[in-house]
Amino acid sequence: TRSSDADDLPHATKKRMADHLRKYESLFTLTPQRMRMIVEAFKDSLETGLAKAGQVVPMIPTYVFGWPSGEETGNFLAVDLGGTNLRVCLVTLEGEGKFEITQSKYRLTEEQKQEEGQVLFDFCAECLKTFVDSQIESGVIRKDCLLPLGFTFSYPCLQDRIDHGELIRWTKGFGASNTEGHDVVAMFRKSLEKNKVPAEIVALTCDTTGTLIASHYVNPRTRIACIFGTGCNAAYMERAGDIPKISHLGIDGNAEMAINCEWGAFDSFEHENLPRTKYDQIIDETSNKPGEQAFEKLISGRYLGEILRLIICELIDEGVLFLGQNTYKLEIPYSFDTAFLSLMESDPTDELLMIIGIFTHFFAVETTLAERQFFRALAKLVGKRAARLSACGIAAIVSKMGYLDEGCAVGADGSLYNKYPGFAERIHEGLQDIFGEKGKNIVTYHAEDGSGIGAAIIAGSSQSTHLSCRE
Ligand code: BGC
Ligand code: MG
Repeated sequence: TRSSDADDLPHATKKRMADHLRKYESLFTLTPQRMRMIVEAFKDSLETGLAKAGQVVPMIPTYVFGWPSGEETGNFLAVDLGGTNLRVCLVTLEGEGKFEITQSKYRLTEEQKQEEGQVLFDFCAECLKTFVDSQIESGVIRKDCLLPLGFTFSYPCLQDRIDHGELIRWTKGFGASNTEGHDVVAMFRKSLEKNKVPAEIVALTCDTTGTLIASHYVNPRTRIACIFGTGCNAAYMERAGDIPKISHLGIDGNAEMAINCEWGAFDSFEHENLPRTKYDQIIDETSNKPGEQAFEKLISGRYLGEILRLIICELIDEGVLFLGQNTYKLEIPYSFDTAFLSLMESDPTDELLMIIGIFTHFFAVETTLAERQFFRALAKLVGKRAARLSACGIAAIVSKMGYLDEGCAVGADGSLYNKYPGFAERIHEGLQDIFGEKGKNIVTYHAEDGSGIGAAIIAGSSQSTHLSCRE
């Protein structure tokens, strides 16, 4: 039998764990100097993406012009296909920056993410149909009314107008066939018609663009929006004159347009700037998109748990952990949820009882206190690196746009930002490591439901006719 008391561990074993921790510390720690180097390279990638089409960081012009006035009004449907959930919403914009939102959420299965693309859009349309029917039934919206719809599709899409977008590539583990290179608006329209959903797609947006617009609606100091969830990305407002690759469109240089950076792709393929460990390389090589989304793979919720699991598995192989126990459950790829890292870091008990729970309940292995402390320290290293790299991305936009002196607000959303303890504080610490005292001028805040509300606002300012469909 195995003891669960750390003091019973042979001294040599404890020392060995401490040595291991030191090794991981040096692999995962980002010094301020290293961060500043990353920011410089990041800035270059942003500029290159604005200058020329088809770059690693695509810097996508969104055809969302300027900030909302706050006077958009009406009822809008919003469909948000994210990395983990599908959300369908009814948003009522009441003017003066006020709104109401009703929504339903559906969790996507791993199979759905790999289905034929049209089948995936059919599922979205079916869910929307059920939602609209229930809203009609309960008397919230009128029957026989065509509702304007904002479609939040959070994958990189090339746009040449607001109601169109060609999927460049799937991210976040999606692999639905016959979708890359296709106009996803046309595909979704087809599914809406097939299911007789009384909705007309008037705008396609990304969750970051939606969040940018929605968060400015509630906090006018907002200049940048970020998502730290299953995936990670940012959007900000750019002068049209500073987007050389669209100069042929003849848009007034002083007009503003939101740019969906798709910064998750930073350092893809060449891998010259980011501190990738061998665990990061394994994740990349075994993913359905090797080489791609290099920045996202170090940061987002889809991958952090897997990074920790790979470290644990390495130590199992080396005979350091769980000797004599059956560890097959830990050996299943992606079995270690990023939510476990949040729980491990926030365990308030001296004995680390929540960590005991995770390992016995989900993986059927026993842990000693020393091991639990070690796991918690590892979680902290992985979580902290993610937050500090996120700070590098924000810093690159801030520095490129010259926002440091006057300061700005950054609207942020996503499971990691909202649920991972200390994630925001670590970003702020990182910004100060990069910029010194002035880093305090850049403040992130939680922009709730931004992607749904933002899609409605964008739909509201894009449609020419106003439909009033509420009873
Ligand atoms: C997608 C972005 C999205 C981000 C956050 C990334 O994988 O490419 O479009 O904004 O995830 O959801
Ligand atoms: Mg989302």
